[in-house]
Amino acid sequence: MSVEDSLKPSVILVSPSDIEENVKKIEEEIKNHEQLDLDSQKKIQEEIDKIWKSLGWFKIAESQGIWKSKTCRHGTQGSCEAWNISDPSKLGIPEDAISVAQDGTKRVITAKFYQLCISCPLYEPRRNQ
Ligand code: SF4
Repeated sequence: MSVEDSLKPSVILVSPSDIEENVKKIEEEIKNHEQLDLDSQKKIQEEIDKIWKSLGWFKIAESQGIWKSKTCRHGTQGSCEAWNISDPSKLGIPEDAISVAQDGTKRVITAKFYQLCISCPLYEPRRNQ
């Protein structure tokens, strides 16, 4: 496994809306499942409630990513000029969030994939805003 492979979970981790959708679907399925007794339904619902609580953390991370992508001095017209991503797919970065310069440099369009900014160590606030 390469270093990039091991980084993958931390890059694609935050997608609260997808997780929320999945949890909602599970909740609906449980409600519609006639074979589950009430006790079982209650236990499963308690587990789902724990997941909802965890999602709060993801939402905070997501909002910080959005804020950093908009205030970082390395962000130019919605793209990050600091990172050159050699193989975006290995990091779980969607193709439509990559722009390729004439010299072959691959930049991340943080306006589309602000998750890159969440834990980025290169963040620096813009001085004159
Ligand atoms: S926080 Fe990091 S990834 Fe985001 S624009 Fe700044 S340097 Fe690029």
